[in-house]
Amino acid sequence: MKIGILGAGQLGRMMAISGYPLNHQFGFSGNANDEPSALLGHMFALEDNADNIESLVAFADVITYESENTDVEIVREINKNVPVYPGEKSLFITQHRGREKALFDQLNIPCVSYQMVNSLTDLERAVAKIGLPAILKTATEGYDGKGQFLMRSEDQIKEAFESMNGVESILEGFVNFKRELSLIAVRDTDNDHKYYPLVENTHHDGILRLTIAPAQNIDIDVQKTAEHYMQTLLDEMDHVGVLTIELFETENGLVVNEMAPRVHNSGHWSIEGANTSQFENHIRAITSMPLGDTSLTHNFSAMVNIIGKIGPTQIPLTMSNANLHLYDKDERANRKLGHINITADSLADLEKSIEQLKDFLPN
Ligand code: AMP
Repeated sequence: MKIGILGAGQLGRMMAISGYPLNHQFGFSGNANDEPSALLGHMFALEDNADNIESLVAFADVITYESENTDVEIVREINKNVPVYPGEKSLFITQHRGREKALFDQLNIPCVSYQMVNSLTDLERAVAKIGLPAILKTATEGYDGKGQFLMRSEDQIKEAFESMNGVESILEGFVNFKRELSLIAVRDTDNDHKYYPLVENTHHDGILRLTIAPAQNIDIDVQKTAEHYMQTLLDEMDHVGVLTIELFETENGLVVNEMAPRVHNSGHWSIEGANTSQFENHIRAITSMPLGDTSLTHNFSAMVNIIGKIGPTQIPLTMSNANLHLYDKDERANRKLGHINITADSLADLEKSIEQLKDFLPN
């Protein structure tokens, strides 16, 4: 099939790499020929937005997207001619933190306490209700910890409000979590679901640096609970494709932070670490192919992100259990340039391999 991807970044690149062996072709919408997907398919440049979308739609049998910040109106228009997966409902909900949390509440999925904020008075009231510390976040378009302000004292109310530059925001109670976890799942057009195991994520300055799969010491009941939340969300949104939920593990159980209607950085390990990667399963789901097995290829897997600088790539290239994935991007502070996947059959081997890659990790 011909698959159109709105966006041309590393997620589109990895979707295309996984989809070519299945005989699919790819087209991307993007602004520049030097984007990570540029050489992996037809590029429909974005200079004239309307024409660009029309030619991408004319090319494609099915359309997907790389980002929850994709314009819902554009998706609605495209869907009149070509199916877009995940559908409009998934996109509409997941691109707004408030709508996302309202859905968690409606479905009895535990999430952090929150209040929407549109004015300084709203923020004062929200702080009085939720207490401090709390995090003020933009309602839309935040990623990698951008658009967030950690408030520790009431003196910071004005500064926090001003840092949002007048856009709608959300105040969230600060969660004293033990660990950050995520769950990735995929659902197809026949309502078949498959789940990857819960994985453990380590962030630094709001950016994911390390994922370990599966997360260690996870009770089977905890995995089942996370899968239950996931299934409820997949079904409620009639979601087709990959869905990711980010969770906090706390003293009182799992608390959902947010979700993304797409393949996710915390699932990159699955390229070598699972029998079918998140990318391939997303492509299978949106092209009505049977979903692939999500079991691990080895007992353990890990993913180390390459951020800002490419670093000493000869290290992973000479390790027998590591695979280097670069995204063809120029070095720039805090930019995701690639990742390294590791597989291992014992925890000791996994830890040793992560130690060998310490130059890629923050101190
Ligand atoms: P987010 O953009 O919501 O994923 O937030 C980025 C990171 O900030 C998360 O991965 C957490 O490390 C941290 N964070 C976000 N929300 C909260 C919260 N309510 N309480 C504590 N830490 C948080």
